[in-house]
This record gives sequence, C-alpha cells and structure tokens, in this order.
Amino acid sequence: MAETITDLDARIDALLAEVPPRATDPVTFLGEQFDRGLAWVHFPVGCGGLGGSPAEQQHTLVRLANAGAPTAALRNVIGYGMVAPTIAVHGTEEQKARFLRPLFTGEEVWCQLFSEPGAGSDVASLATRAERDGDEWLLNGQKVWTTLAHVASYGLIIARTDPDQPKHRGITAFLVDMRAPGVEVRPLYQATGEAEFNECFFTDARVPDTRRLGGVGEGWTVAITTLMNERVSIGGGVPPRDSGLIGQALGLWRERWAVRADPYARAVRARVLEAWVRAEVSRLTNWRASDLRDAGTPGPEGSVAKLASAEGNQRLSELCVDLLGAEGMLYGSGYPLVRPSETSYATGDVRKLFIRSRANSIEGGTSEVMRNIIGERVLGLAAEPRADKGVAWKDVPRG
Ligand SMILES: Cc1cc2nc3c(=O)[nH]c(=O)nc-3n(C[C@H](O)[C@H](O)[C@H](O)COP(=O)(O)OP(=O)(O)OC[C@H]3O[C@@H](n4cnc5c(N)ncnc54)[C@H](O)[C@@H]3O)c2cc1C
Repeated sequence: MAETITDLDARIDALLAEVPPRATDPVTFLGEQFDRGLAWVHFPVGCGGLGGSPAEQQHTLVRLANAGAPTAALRNVIGYGMVAPTIAVHGTEEQKARFLRPLFTGEEVWCQLFSEPGAGSDVASLATRAERDGDEWLLNGQKVWTTLAHVASYGLIIARTDPDQPKHRGITAFLVDMRAPGVEVRPLYQATGEAEFNECFFTDARVPDTRRLGGVGEGWTVAITTLMNERVSIGGGVPPRDSGLIGQALGLWRERWAVRADPYARAVRARVLEAWVRAEVSRLTNWRASDLRDAGTPGPEGSVAKLASAEGNQRLSELCVDLLGAEGMLYGSGYPLVRPSETSYATGDVRKLFIRSRANSIEGGTSEVMRNIIGERVLGLAAEPRADKGVAWKDVPRG
C-alpha cells in the first residue's frame, strides 16, 4: 500500500509559486514538475514520483490543471499514459534515468508498436521478428495503426524472439529509436480526414540489447502492463463535472433548445438529461475506482472504464450532432497530420468528434474484447476456447 504524502499540497503550492505555470514555457514547467516528484506522484522517487497513490496523483493533476499548468498527457499521449508506467515497472535504472524525464516534458514523443496486420485483438500472435546479433537485435516486420509514429522519437515495440515457444512466451519488448536506419513510417488517413496513425516497416533495424525492456521472452508481461495502463488512460480519467462532450451537449441544448416548449423540445430535453446522468455516473465511478486503486499495474477493472467511455463518447457525440440539426452534417475538409497538442479529444468540433468516436470501440482493445475480459476476469465466467494454447507459435496456422 502506498504511503500517504503528508506535505503533498505544500509541494504543489511551492511548485506553483516558484515556477508560475502561466509565465513559464511548458517544457521548463514540466521538467520542474518531474524533478519535484509531481509528474506521476504514484511512481517511485527518481521516476518523477513520490511513491504515493493513484488518488494523490489525481488530486495533483486537478490542482495543477486548475492553476493553468500545461498537461503532459496531451503533449505525449501514448508516452505519458502507457509507455512511462511500463518503463517505471520493467525498465533498468539506466532506462528510467534516460527516458522518463524527456518523455514527460514532451521533448521526446513516444509511440506504441504492438498491432500488426495479422495481430490486433490477438496481439500475442504477432509475427515481427527480433533476432540476436552480438550486442544488438535485428528487427524485421510490419506494425500498423501506430498512433503518432510520424512524430515519435522512440517506440515501445514487442517482437517475436523465439518462434518455438507458444505465442505468449516467445515475445520480447524493446525501446526502439524511430529515426534509426531500417525504420520506415507511412501515415494512414482516417475518416476524420486526419492522419493520426501509421504503418511502420522494420528492415534489419538495429536495437542495442541495452534497449531491451524486461527479460528475453518476457515481452508479454511487459505488454500487459502497457495494455492495462492504456485502458485506464483511455477510459479512467476523472474530468470536472459537465466538461468534455457532456458540457458541449449541455451548451448546445441551452443555446438552441432550452427556449422552446414544444413536445419535440421536451423529448430532446429528456434525452439530454439521460445523457447527463450516464456521464455523471461514469465520472463518479471512475473517481471511486481511482480512489480505490493501489499503485502498480491496474487490473482488469480498467476494461470496465474503457468500455463505458467508448460507448459514452459515441452516444454523446451522436447527441451533439443531433442537437446541431442540419448543421450537424457540415464537415470541413483538409488532411492534416495530427501533432501532439494542448487540446483535449473531447473539446473539438463535435462533428469531427462524432466521426472520431467510431474508433473508440476499436482502439486500446475492441468493446467485444473488453466484454470478454470482464466476463472472464471480473465476473468469472467460462473462458473462450483457445485452440492454440501450448502450441509452438511457428506451428499455429495463420492467414
Ligand atoms: C484510433 C486507433 C488508434 C490505434 N493506435 C494504436 C497504437 O498506437 N498502437 C498499436 O499497437 N495499435 C493501435 N491501434 C490498433 C488497435 O489496438 C487494434 O485495432 C485493436 O486491438 C483491434 O485489432 P484489429 O483492428 O486487428 O481487429 P481484429 O482483432 O481483427 O478484430 C476484428 C473484429 O473481430 C472482433 N473480435 C476479435 N477477436 C474477438 C474475440 N475473441 N471475441 C469477440 N470478438 C472478437 C473484434 O471485436 C472486431 O470487431 C489503434 C487503433 C485505432 C482504431
């Protein structure tokens, strides 16, 4: 159990007084936040933390956000929410010292290279190979849907190092330099008109053994840390009441519908009310979960938050588009490459969010897979049949 940090508020006060966030450039502020252990309060000392609890981390985030501090999570979304907790648990002291600080400040953006054309939900069946060559490893294969790889300095990759082992056992994790020779990144355009994710090709790309994360053959344990944190990171946030998409829905209702008293407007009001209740229940559930959660790798309950947030975003963005009436059908053009920014997913144009939210039930594990996890690991229902259990990866037929 994490120790309570008795002087946490005093530490936050000192940071805000000595490094005023509104008068300091974001990299300098975030660097100071890291050095004082207020980056991830629930991480160990020296890793940007103070050995506190997730609830203390949440408290710190809220206080800093209210004071106008920059948000590290938005500047490096994959690095902050998924890669950093994985390095903190599995990294060597050298890896923690080298990578966590520039990751937090956003000076080095990270991506996560798990999914492949033939391995998404069943990511343990991946085929990208890593073969030992002296003090280095040679990477060959293809990853896909790699968010922000086009701006990433580094990526967390899992690759097959022993095809004779069953699929979960022959995998190893590495921290790969995305600008190294043999790494090619090709952006993919999505329904929103933006390119947010990429195909990544590895052709004899060299990774030093010092950049191996965890033991040889222990990549699945490393990946589970990342995936559990991904689910909490996507679904487990505790935004202020009436913020994000529900805030946008309330704003549209007040602006366009509140003045009307006809039966249709009353029906719309009932729909907005129901959406508000659902959003609030989801927010309070996440709050309670973050209070109860101990430091360390989150458990399968992260899948509940992830599933609820995917369905909630889709329902709320659909409501917003309906509230806009015919204007909901207008959509701008242009095909920008997505850059890390200071803006949150839930505060943009609702028409774009409506299209983007379709991906919420796919990214970070599909809603069907979340239901499987909840069924098996939370409710204790019978597991799915697994025909490839105990079979060497090389002997499992694949398309
Ligand atoms: C916006 C976005 C960003 C992403 N970013 C990243 C990233 O940064 N890094 C990364 O590695 N990956 C990323 N992904 C990939 C994502 O993790 C995969 O798309 C996801 O895990 C699903 O895999 P798949 O697309 O191969 O679908 P498949 O696994 O082929 O699934 C196809 C369909 O079958 C269903 N299905 C599969 N298995 C089961 C089962 N056992 N029971 C019931 N139904 C099942 C699925 O629910 C789905 O409907 C991203 C995806 C999106 C959409």
